[in-house]
Amino acid sequence: MITVLNQTVASKKKPWQIELSQAKLSLKELLDYCQLPMDNTFIDHNDFVIKATKNYLSCIQKGNPKDPLLLQILPTIEENKIIEGFSNDPLQEKSQNPQTSIVHKYNNRILVVATGSCAIHCRYCFRRHFPYEQNRHSTKQWLKTIDYLKAHPEVDELIFSGGDPLSLADSTLSLMINDLENILTIKTIRFHSRIPVVLPSRVDQDFLNIFKSCTKKLIMVIHSNHANELNSAVKQACLSLHEHNFTLLNQSVLLKTINDDSRVLIALSHRLFDCNVLPYYLHLLDKVQGAAHFDITIARAKQIYTQIQANLSGYLVPKLALEEPNESNKTIIM
Ligand SMILES: *Cc1c(COP(=O)(O)O)cnc(C)c1O
Ligand code: SF4
Repeated sequence: MITVLNQTVASKKKPWQIELSQAKLSLKELLDYCQLPMDNTFIDHNDFVIKATKNYLSCIQKGNPKDPLLLQILPTIEENKIIEGFSNDPLQEKSQNPQTSIVHKYNNRILVVATGSCAIHCRYCFRRHFPYEQNRHSTKQWLKTIDYLKAHPEVDELIFSGGDPLSLADSTLSLMINDLENILTIKTIRFHSRIPVVLPSRVDQDFLNIFKSCTKKLIMVIHSNHANELNSAVKQACLSLHEHNFTLLNQSVLLKTINDDSRVLIALSHRLFDCNVLPYYLHLLDKVQGAAHFDITIARAKQIYTQIQANLSGYLVPKLALEEPNESNKTIIM
């Protein structure tokens, strides 16, 4: 009887929810999966645990300790080093939090931190120390966000960020999209999400249906750092989003030993275009404590950038950008 009951409960979960619920891994599980031996430079992190979906793991080359996808999720002792110039809140977002769960830093657009949950834990993440627990989505918070939009008609774009907003339930997303339909000053709804890349099964028919009668402009900024992440399931998810009126853009972070090579970035741009996605930003690393080992110098970034510019059509070249605290927009370097 209990088995039957459990099966009923389990069957209510969608494939993507099951994959998401199984994304936490121990260091040993990750290494076993990748067929790699334990090494004393690897660590098992307690606060920012190891997390990656089956789909993401399937894109890792087994037996390769330098695999560019593995390096994005594998914690090493480098994370524990305290490096000068790297802080826990590099963008000083805590001070730009006018009310919990909103970051209103740029004039016409606000960022809504809708959830704390991601389908993957990227070791370079600039929000790894963000107080998500105090910024978790709740109906009460959402109603306050709606009030904030009514009081700020200059805001014409709402950006769902996180964590990862696509980890929210369909019912929650649906409610929010419907509420926004009534705010006439909002013209564009944008999502920043790594989920189309790491958990493409999330982009199912139920998800797409949420936007069926939405009259706002829709943008999905996916976050991919390497062409190896974009397998056929990811491509299918992108094509479906495109068919459902989403404009697709990509934001990458320039990461040492992962994609700090013009050939890697050129391949990424081509693969993105193949998935109907245009490169948008190539971001320099935000100086967050624990991620210094991914940092490269601005001079090196410019050098790589010049090489990609020389080899790609203009529309396949992302903007090289940097985020500085208290600036009213991102700083474009090139
Ligand atoms: C990056 C960012 C945005 C969006 O900026 P765009 O240049 O329009 O992509 C908005 N709010 C915050 C806090 C951001 O960090
Ligand atoms: S917020 Fe983005 S970069 Fe940070 S852990 Fe989540 S998916 Fe990765």
